[in-house]
Amino acid sequence: MKPADNVVTGTVEVVFTPDLPTDHLVFRLWPNGPRPAKAGARLDVTATRIGNGSAPGQRPDATTLTVPVELHAGQSVTAAVDFTLTLPRPVDDRISRTADAIRLGSFFPILSWEPGVGWATEPPTSGFAEASTVQAADFTATVTTPPGFDVLATGVPGPANGQWTAQAVGDFAMSVGHFRTASATTKQGTAVTVGVDAQVKDGPESYVRRIVAALEDYGNRFGPYPWPAYTMAVEPNLQGGIEYPMHVMQGPGTVGRTTPHEVAHQWFYGLVENNQGRDPFLDEGLASWAEARDENTLSRFVGLAVPVAGKGHAGEPMAFWESRQSAYYRSVYVQPVQALAALGPPELVDCALRLYVARNAYRIARPVDLLEALKVVFPNAPATLARYGIAA
Ligand SMILES: [Zn+2]
Repeated sequence: MKPADNVVTGTVEVVFTPDLPTDHLVFRLWPNGPRPAKAGARLDVTATRIGNGSAPGQRPDATTLTVPVELHAGQSVTAAVDFTLTLPRPVDDRISRTADAIRLGSFFPILSWEPGVGWATEPPTSGFAEASTVQAADFTATVTTPPGFDVLATGVPGPANGQWTAQAVGDFAMSVGHFRTASATTKQGTAVTVGVDAQVKDGPESYVRRIVAALEDYGNRFGPYPWPAYTMAVEPNLQGGIEYPMHVMQGPGTVGRTTPHEVAHQWFYGLVENNQGRDPFLDEGLASWAEARDENTLSRFVGLAVPVAGKGHAGEPMAFWESRQSAYYRSVYVQPVQALAALGPPELVDCALRLYVARNAYRIARPVDLLEALKVVFPNAPATLARYGIAA
């Protein structure tokens, strides 16, 4: 990365083996969505290759790159995309630059295959920029920064200098800046590192303690945290948090409920993936359930009023919420918590969610998968959840 030129340049190399035949590859270019673009972000593709040969891509729209290639099911291909990312102004979003604090989420051309389905080609929404839904993969990132910059990212450092390695994750993100860090290891062996950017006053230690407690709590409730590390950066110009597998970004003063909520996303979005554009309740509702259990705030969630615009519509896609943004949080985060609480004792809901995680780990789950797991413990689950707008 070249902060002096306000750009990040790079190459994405993928080895891809589809489980269905296809005649092209699709890479999503999320920095070109309406909201990041308005803040000045731009992702340019400078070259595309299949194997060692040049393979010109096409741009059907700003957030989509397609590269023609004939593949049958089970046939592997190696492809590469060279890119230049122009960094935006300071902005409360997945990609942001505030002086030397550089937030890089959903920032590179990412392959968008959903096994059993095909390419995820949903258009971006006008709100908070998109994350991708991709098959879990092994990532090795080689990051070069000017001297003096610190990096926290998805994965563990190494094996080479500047590298980050992660196995079986659906995405890769990183935070760059000048960090004060603190670390600890959970009882289950997860290495936790928090870096607080030099522009933020918070201390890292309280975040580390809260993350360790939440990782241990959810490990007991939903099954073990699946990766060796969890890194988190506290950064300027961010409200709340943004989750990626093994790496979370949080704003100043978010040590409270935001911290366990983002940790919960490692199970609901990270380990069990979902399409956040199609089924946003599946990760936000379940992460909110976990947050409520960890924070002991379930009765508060159950007592919150859901606006008329979203009542009975918890399962709607992001497109539905475009014109109903003020109802989004209560409808998609809070309402599923109320639906789960209506099933029966919370300990048994945790038990059913543990089954959901075990059955759907490293997959892109759908609402039917949640209902099938809940049904094992609560035979009436489909009827109960249907009242809240959650159906297969
Ligand atoms: Zn969330």
